Amino acid sequence: MQCKNHDEVQAVDRCVGCAEAFCGDCLVEVRGQKYCGSCKVLAIQGQQIVLEEETVPCKEASEALTYAIASFLCCGIILGPMAITKAYKARELIAMDPRLTGSGKANAAMVIGIVALLLWLIAFVGAPVAHVRRRP
Ligand SMILES: [Zn+2]
Ligand SMILES: [Zn+2]
Repeated sequence: MQCKNHDEVQAVDRCVGCAEAFCGDCLVEVRGQKYCGSCKVLAIQGQQIVLEEETVPCKEASEALTYAIASFLCCGIILGPMAITKAYKARELIAMDPRLTGSGKANAAMVIGIVALLLWLIAFVGAPVAHVRRRP
């Protein structure tokens, strides 16, 4: 078995990409796999594409949504603004880093946070007013 590039040199292994035999000088190791010169380029390009497509869920967006839902149940006056702040920060982070996902979560958290805050404000301010109005 001779190297495909060097007729006089004994091949040591086969390329993973094209399955041709190559000598030690021609083979390059990429991620533990042996490639020849031309397949190596494809292997590295493929690796970069995978890296570019890799996405990271935005932690801030998930936290914002958790705060937003919690703000409905209790302490909306405190948790509501926290949810809105976190959702705003999450949207900024997602806008800066295209790999981050969760813009839908951040938007939902912002809406839920605002609604929860309004409901709590109405409950705090509106209830006593309604109570007073009901009295003659
Ligand atoms: Zn090859
Ligand atoms: Zn060779």
